[in-house]
Amino acid sequence: MSKILVFGHQNPDTDAIASAIGFSHLANQHFKLNTEAVALGAPNKETKYALDFFKVDAPRVIKSASSEGVDTVILTDHNEFQQSIIDIKELTVWGVVDHHRIANFATADPVFFRAEPVGSSSSIVTRMFKENQVDIPKKIAGILLSAIISDTLLLKSPTTHLSDRTTAQYLAKIAEVDFETYGLKLLKAGTNLASYLESELLNLDAKTFPLDKENVRVAQVNTVNINEVLARQAALEKAMQAEVEQNGYSDFILMITDILNSNSEILAVGKNNKKIEKAFGIQLKDHHAFLKGVVSRKKQIIPQLTKSYGKV
Ligand code: ZN
Ligand code: ZN
Repeated sequence: MSKILVFGHQNPDTDAIASAIGFSHLANQHFKLNTEAVALGAPNKETKYALDFFKVDAPRVIKSASSEGVDTVILTDHNEFQQSIIDIKELTVWGVVDHHRIANFATADPVFFRAEPVGSSSSIVTRMFKENQVDIPKKIAGILLSAIISDTLLLKSPTTHLSDRTTAQYLAKIAEVDFETYGLKLLKAGTNLASYLESELLNLDAKTFPLDKENVRVAQVNTVNINEVLARQAALEKAMQAEVEQNGYSDFILMITDILNSNSEILAVGKNNKKIEKAFGIQLKDHHAFLKGVVSRKKQIIPQLTKSYGKV
């Protein structure tokens, strides 16, 4: 049987890596496929902390499926083609496991598709292990747990689903860690931003969204001190502007998220400041504004922008 590659989105976060590792294991055990979990980018500091903690090797980083001699793939933690592997349009998608909006996705053949509006793709993968009565190895449980913690900011984000708490407790037991203690250490590992160049910081967790006729780039960084990141505003704006020009984005929005108090500051560069202000009922001052209680790009930023950009 020819090999199938399993991977999460570009600029992988912990869930993109973890859901691919988890689903690959399940696919091999239960669906009797020959899969390998890979990644479309190197793990960030938070993910690296989780991989090191549970002694799991980082998945290989690949550039394209064709260069791997593979023509079939499984997508986790994304479905939109512009967030996927570069040659996605030439490939067969065997399946998808995701918890995002469904957009810019089409296949020629029938497809396995599992999407639920829960806190992380890893939550879905965990429940699929249970449904199919496949044991979750301790290491994989630890990685899946890390993804739930990461995506839901310790179950505090509005993206958290009621079932995520039970799922997290179940995994914590198998992984033999205390959810809160381990979780805080994991999140803090991802907030050490000082060593990143501005251009790197903007690509830690960035996605492009086609809104109306524009391509809007929305990046997010986690911190325990918003002002520490804002102190780099001038250099960040310069790097954001460079990305806008290089990639033809209409706008670049950076969410600086305070993981302890669950708020975000947004910094915006581009031509649609008015639409951004309208989306959130705010006024950008010196290109930035505080969004109280906002931590989720998926639930508290993109739907609001979609609505605002729709009204030209
Ligand atoms: Zn993700
Ligand atoms: Zn996710």
